[in-house]
Amino acid sequence: MTTLLSPAIDTVGEMTERCDRCGAAAKLEVVLTSGGDLAFCGHHANRHHADITKVASMIRIEDGFEWAGK
Ligand SMILES: [Zn+2]
Repeated sequence: MTTLLSPAIDTVGEMTERCDRCGAAAKLEVVLTSGGDLAFCGHHANRHHADITKVASMIRIEDGFEWAGK
C-alpha cells in the first residue's frame, strides 16, 4: 500500500485509553496531524485503518496488537 503520509508508529506496553467509538479498551492511539488525538479498540482500529493512516502524524499501538494498517 502506498500512502502520501507515513506516520511514525510506536509500540507501547500498556494502553489505558478507551475506544472513542465504543468504549472498549483501546489497542491503538492516534495523534492527529490537525492536533488532538483519538483512541480505537482493535475492532475499530482495523475497520478504520485507511482513514487513520491518512490523518495520523503518530500512531501508538499496544504491544502484541496486529494492526491491519501497519
Ligand atoms: Zn471500538
